[in-house]
Amino acid sequence: MQQRLDGKGMSKLVSDADIVLDCSDNFATRHALNRACVEHRKPLVSAAAIRFDAQLMVFDLRKPDAPCYACLFPEDGEVEEVQCSQMGVFAPLTGVAGALQAMEAIKLVCGGGESLSGRLLLLDALGAEWRTVRIARDPGCAVCGVG
Ligand SMILES: [Zn+2]
Repeated sequence: MQQRLDGKGMSKLVSDADIVLDCSDNFATRHALNRACVEHRKPLVSAAAIRFDAQLMVFDLRKPDAPCYACLFPEDGEVEEVQCSQMGVFAPLTGVAGALQAMEAIKLVCGGGESLSGRLLLLDALGAEWRTVRIARDPGCAVCGVG
């Protein structure tokens, strides 16, 4: 069932969740989910894949110093919206990204292992290369900061 949620509906849905997994393909949904997760201090596990690149992020918003999605991609940022429905995606990559996302969610539920929180995991499927980049909370973030 496909359901379109307004901000209030999404906020209610997130408030009832333990952990939120963002599997969407557009910035409007990602930012709305991020706002609801910041509001309710819920961990957000975000995965994205396009062409031969994937990225995975964990925003453990239960922690006061954790960055949020908007710290990395500001809502008013100059980021070009590209969707896999137009640009294509290497099919096995979505499986890899989804499995990694599930792995991080299970670790958050169990409280075990080292969370990806505060880091961005990047996978270049063509080059067969992985790398992580540290992400800091932006004190001026319009969503989680003082604005
Ligand atoms: Zn933020």
